[in-house]
Amino acid sequence: MTTNHPKDTTYRSVYLAGIQGERFDVRIADGRFVSIEKASSLPERPGEDLWLSPGAIDLHTHLAWTDFHHDDQLKRTSDEVEAMQVQAFEATLRAGVTSARDAGGLLPSIARRIGEQYGQPLRIFTSGEALGGQDAAKGHEYLMKRVTDNVKDGASWIKIFATGGLGSPPDKVLNPLLSKEEFLTIVRTAHAEHTKVMVHVWGGQALDWSIDAGVDSIEHGIYMTEEQAGRLAQAGISYIPTAAIYRIAADPTGTLALKQPFLDHAARAAESHPKAVLYARREGVRIGFGTDFATPGLNGRNFEELYTLIDFGLTREEAWSSATDTAADILGLGDKLGRIRAGYTADAILFNADPYRAKNADDLHQSIVSVITGDL
Ligand SMILES: [Zn+2]
Repeated sequence: MTTNHPKDTTYRSVYLAGIQGERFDVRIADGRFVSIEKASSLPERPGEDLWLSPGAIDLHTHLAWTDFHHDDQLKRTSDEVEAMQVQAFEATLRAGVTSARDAGGLLPSIARRIGEQYGQPLRIFTSGEALGGQDAAKGHEYLMKRVTDNVKDGASWIKIFATGGLGSPPDKVLNPLLSKEEFLTIVRTAHAEHTKVMVHVWGGQALDWSIDAGVDSIEHGIYMTEEQAGRLAQAGISYIPTAAIYRIAADPTGTLALKQPFLDHAARAAESHPKAVLYARREGVRIGFGTDFATPGLNGRNFEELYTLIDFGLTREEAWSSATDTAADILGLGDKLGRIRAGYTADAILFNADPYRAKNADDLHQSIVSVITGDL
């Protein structure tokens, strides 16, 4: 169940996720938290305890993509694609994700249409069409126009594909897809437009450029070195590992059911990735929750990322923070989103079991009673 823009509601005698042994009365009005006070009474129905957590923020989705291979999406009719995109929004929201930053493909106009025509309250931050290898060697004017056009369309982030990914030959995956000058032009133009920059980068030189250029977040960082993690921390650049997806991709019986050579490449990535996350954690890099989920079999399984991050060495508190307050900080909205605090946006998940004790993503998902979206 989802509740959108609650007008005046009080959740009485609920627990707040992560705070043990204390109950609170949480009042929401006009889509915002108004007050959070120690509970004045015991729950109305004893034995039916409820827990409230902030809504999750998925910092790396592709809600417009319906298929792993783009050619497969092109074979679908536009009605079919739109219906699948609406389902992706619904499944993501039902999973407890109340805000999503789309990492490419979801045009601001599509996000608006799905919101308005289908009444989908999932809060979306878009990056429009990503820049990458297809934009190389076309001149700096062209790159600047690509950036400003995206911003004009309503994108709040610019996404750069700086290296290859699963589809690249493993020995070439770290080769930069743009020249250093081109890369810097894009970042500089975006920042001049007061727009943040997120960079898909598996490692190597392009990761160094990202640090030098002061981008806002790097995505994946599969082969990030310890030294790079240290510099990332120093530069205050956030890291969105998207940890779960590579494990899923490496599983031949998994949802993606990939074939060779993707399987082998995913397995290599999944093996190296935990090291990068550990370096980042040790060096104090701000780590954010992002799934990179893009297909019907994956939408709605977003909390698998939480448990993968824990497997990779984050504490439960750190993993939850990566999906709530830290994620809001990464979006630059830490003063109004991602926390249950008076004056903040009333995005929340109501659980019928302690979410910090859920054994796995399925468990956690099954304990969701409702998802609440407020007003930013
Ligand atoms: Zn992605």
